[in-house]
Amino acid sequence: MAPTQLTKTAQQARQHLMVPAQDMKTLGQRALPALSHGEGIHVFTENGHRLIDGPAGMWCTQVGYGCSEIAEAIADQATTLSYNSPWYTTNTQAAALAEQIATMTPGDLNRIFFTTGGSTAVDTALRFVEYFNNALGRPSKKGIVVRRDGYHGSTALTFSCSGRSQTAPHFDPPAQRIHYLSSPNIRLSGGQTEAQFLETLVEEFETLIEANGPETIGAFLAEPILASGGVIIPPKGYHARFKEICEKHEILYISDEVVTAFGRCGEWFASEKVFGVVPDIITFAKGVTSGYVPLGGVAISDKLLARVSGENAGGAYFGNGYTYSGHPVSCAAGLANIKVFEKLDLLNHVRKISGYFNQALQGLRDLPGVVDVRVSGLVGCVECMTVDQRIIAKAEDRAMATEIDTLCFEMGLIVRPLANLCVISPPLTITEDQIDEICDILRTAIIRVT
Ligand code: PLP
Repeated sequence: MAPTQLTKTAQQARQHLMVPAQDMKTLGQRALPALSHGEGIHVFTENGHRLIDGPAGMWCTQVGYGCSEIAEAIADQATTLSYNSPWYTTNTQAAALAEQIATMTPGDLNRIFFTTGGSTAVDTALRFVEYFNNALGRPSKKGIVVRRDGYHGSTALTFSCSGRSQTAPHFDPPAQRIHYLSSPNIRLSGGQTEAQFLETLVEEFETLIEANGPETIGAFLAEPILASGGVIIPPKGYHARFKEICEKHEILYISDEVVTAFGRCGEWFASEKVFGVVPDIITFAKGVTSGYVPLGGVAISDKLLARVSGENAGGAYFGNGYTYSGHPVSCAAGLANIKVFEKLDLLNHVRKISGYFNQALQGLRDLPGVVDVRVSGLVGCVECMTVDQRIIAKAEDRAMATEIDTLCFEMGLIVRPLANLCVISPPLTITEDQIDEICDILRTAIIRVT
């Protein structure tokens, strides 16, 4: 399209917007497609092209678009009380949402600190670990163990904890206290069974702790499913085994549920009910407001807090906070979102429909270009390769994924092209017919490109 034919939005975006993971080569030359509105599981471009939102935005629009209950709650709260300083006041919405979330979390994770999104939630959790161990007089216990292929955010610290930080160009190497374990991706296991692979991963964790000394390791930070790293589902029993090891060495287990919480796996939180682990700390964001307004948070165990609060506080304070912690409008959206979940019985819907979703995506395995399909709840990905069954995607695989994405877009489906993966994690309101439509489009695009 010649520059003169660009819409006003496209011109403005080209000239002034910078986007996440901005391709620096095309800065000022290309703008992303602009969306004008959304309805249910669909979004529409400025020129009226209707698309199924395959990744639910960024795994966040759980109840879909155009939900009037959430919109009204936002408008009401903005009119009633648009802001309060969380340093010296609180508000009815934040208190009510904290109470409600505390009933949803596993174990005694009853204390909620609200943040502005997922990165600040994980950052807060890691700052708490630092505070906790300093307060307990063990200043060397600061190491953070993470996995390659994990993703935890875009602040300096959370990005360093993400597997990808190793390869991001022109950033300094992560701090030495961050230790990387292997990705729990069975395709990287060299043909081991699931049980054997679990033992290999456990041994690697134990060896790392032994080599560095448990007195230097403060936390294990893990997503239940490594979402942005490629929808990687660890071997059965992985989280429970890792938690046992953490307990043995007084290492805090942080479950990063920024993607998996709020229904994505059929539960409010997936850690315990789906993955069999009660963490010490859980982080959440995205689905808590179905993406209508930004909000994230951290749920911390009472038992942990008791060790550094009250008579154990030593007169100190946890020096962590954001201008928008517990923002009344965001928390009102969170409360309305939960009501919509309940009205639509969304958790049950996800439990019921995820079998169909799994079967439908697995049905694409018959295509020669498809080498793996991984699904948990309503998170799925179809892994494609062009030439052979390489484990690590090469540049041409990425180009192919982009081509599949472009074709899908033309046919009315947004997929998230992650390396050589087509990621589908739709709004939780999705129906069987809509799942069929997604798979039909994917099938056509993959056949044409691979
Ligand atoms: N943690 C996980 C597991 C995520 O997937 C993400 C974002 O995708 C984040 C943290 C960062 O969240 P945000 O982008 O809201 O800061």
